[in-house]
Parts: sequence; structure tokens; C-alpha cells
Amino acid sequence: MPSSLETSRFFRARVARITDLTPSFRRFTFTGDDLHEYGDPGFDQRIKVVFPTDAIPLDAMPTGADWWTRWRELPDASRPPFRTYTTRAVRRAEREVDIDMVAHEVLGPASAWIQNARPGDEVLVFAPTVALREVSLGVDFVPPAQTGGYLLAGDETAAPAIAVILEQLPPEATGTVVLEVPTPEDCAYLPRHPGFSFHVAARTGGERHGHLVTATREAAYALTPEGHGEEVEEVDIDEGMLWEVPRTAKGGAALKKAPLYAWLAGEASAIKTLRRHLVTERGVDRRAVAFMGYWRTGRAEC
Ligand SMILES: Cc1cc2nc3c(=O)[nH]c(=O)nc-3n(C[C@H](O)[C@H](O)[C@H](O)COP(=O)(O)OP(=O)(O)OC[C@H]3O[C@@H](n4cnc5c(N)ncnc54)[C@H](O)[C@@H]3O)c2cc1C
Repeated sequence: MPSSLETSRFFRARVARITDLTPSFRRFTFTGDDLHEYGDPGFDQRIKVVFPTDAIPLDAMPTGADWWTRWRELPDASRPPFRTYTTRAVRRAEREVDIDMVAHEVLGPASAWIQNARPGDEVLVFAPTVALREVSLGVDFVPPAQTGGYLLAGDETAAPAIAVILEQLPPEATGTVVLEVPTPEDCAYLPRHPGFSFHVAARTGGERHGHLVTATREAAYALTPEGHGEEVEEVDIDEGMLWEVPRTAKGGAALKKAPLYAWLAGEASAIKTLRRHLVTERGVDRRAVAFMGYWRTGRAEC
């Protein structure tokens, strides 16, 4: 029996509906007996989804408070795979949660499940609960209270997070969205916000992240004056994790005020290029730049 004081835990969730929103974005609407307790801190709240495989049932997943230690102790062959996703919508009264998953080439356990899932199939979702009262450290969009403008940039894996951010920012917020998606039809995925300009495009000729990098550079040029660049330390994306979310010790924004807040997420090498451009070349205060490598070409998440 889960404790009512737990601020995050595993939820057993069953596919109620699958909606193909565009060629690449597949919405999974999950239902579950206790999804009325699923926490909804908003913005880019990240979650873990455990996928069953032919060889490893969901019940093999340790789900207690020490799940991480016990999961790591399991032999590789019996360790249930999980991947990171974003809560897209929560309807507690209906006990429903939406998660939008990119249906890309089958390369790992998530993409295999996404392609074959049917209503009734089950996953485990590690997410906050309604008992969470403090700042959620799973929310990485942490802008200063006074932000002049926003730059939200990413690839298709960041699109669900950008969608929630746009829906939850007030109407008077202003900024620019740069998004690169696999096909022209995927451009319809994002909701619009009246204060934002949108530079959403499909990658062409198989070239990955060309639009993302070029359009983000152009947006940065328009949004920021030429600054005095600050050197950023190199992150070895083949060894370490590309992830920096400036915040205070209590989890709030690192700055009270900034002319620009940039949120960058997607494939790690593209995000590394963008962060370097913003901080080193354009002199954007690094405390106003959140950057997250959501996935890395050629490497499984875990
Ligand atoms: C905080 C966070 C939030 C995320 N939110 C979402 C979300 O809401 N929706 C969503 O769809 N994804 C999201 N992702 C990305 C998702 O976790 C990865 O794409 C994941 O690696 C897919 O798992 P997999 O089992 O298919 O591939 P893995 O087993 O992890 O990797 C196997 C191979 O697939 C490649 N690969 C992984 N992802 C992609 C991709 N998208 N396109 C092409 N090749 C890929 C890897 O480079 C590797 O070579 C998020 C990631 C993070 C860190």
C-alpha cells in the first residue's frame, strides 16, 4: 500500500487510448486506479516510464523507496528498462494521464513499446504525487520571476515539454520557439501562444538538427545584443550528462531578473552547440540558460 505522504512513487498505468496526433507524435492516454493521486507540478515535469519486454515483466521492477539501488543490483538480463518522458496532461477526476511519445525508428525498449502498444497494455510511471508541496526538482523550466523574454528551443523529444510550458505561461509572456521535427506534418503538434514567434520546421534531407541550430542562432541574434562571452567548461557528452538547470539550493530560479531566459533540450550534441553559442558567443548570463541533453545519438539512456 503506498504511503499517502510519499511525494513521488510508481503508478501502475494502463493504456486507455492511443491517438496519432501527427506522423511522429503518438499520445498515450493512461488510466489507473490511483491516478487521482498523480502529482501535476506543471511545465516540463519529467517522469520515468518502465516498459515491459517479452523477457522481463513489469512485476520485476523494484518499486519501494530503495528502488534505484535494488534496480541497479539486478543482473542486466532481468533489469526492467525505463526511459524519461514528460507529463503532457493530468485529469485527476477521470484518473487519466497523457504522455506524448515520439514514434521513432525502433532502436530501444521505449521505441519498441511505442510501436506495438495496444489499449490495455500496462507500464509503470514514476512521478510526483499530490502530496508534493515544495518545488519539484523534476521541473527544469525555472525562469526568473521577472523575465524579459523566453527562448524555447529543442527537437521533437522536447516538444511535449515546450507544449506544456506554452500552455502554462501567462498570455502576456513573450518569446521565441525554435523546434525541429521529423516531418512537415509534425509542425502542427505545438499549441500556439500569442506572445511567441514560432520557427518550427521539419528536418530536410535527413540532416539532423540543421534547422534547430541555425534558427536558434538567428533567434539569439535578434533577442540579445552582442555580449561579452563567458567561457563554458566542456562537457564530454560521451561520458557525462549534458544537463545544467540554474537554481538556488531550495530549487528556485538562480536569478530574480533577466532580460532573456533560454530553455534548450534535445539531442545532446546539438544542445551543447546551442549553449556554447548563447553563453560564449552572445554573452547570455549562464544563470539564465537551462540546457538538457534529452538523448544522445548512438547511446541508450541507461
Ligand atoms: C527529461 C526528459 C524528457 C523527455 N521527454 C520526452 C517526451 O515527452 N517524449 C518523447 O518522445 N521523448 C522524451 N524524451 C526522450 C526519450 O527519453 C528518449 O528518446 C529515449 O532514449 C527513447 O528510448 P528508446 O528506448 O527508444 O531508445 P534508447 O534505448 O534510449 O536508445 C537506443 C538508440 O535510440 C536512439 N534514440 C533515442 N531517442 C531517439 C529519438 N528520439 N530519435 C532517434 N533516435 C533516438 C539513441 O541514440 C540510441 O542509439 C525525454 C528525455 C528526457 C531526458
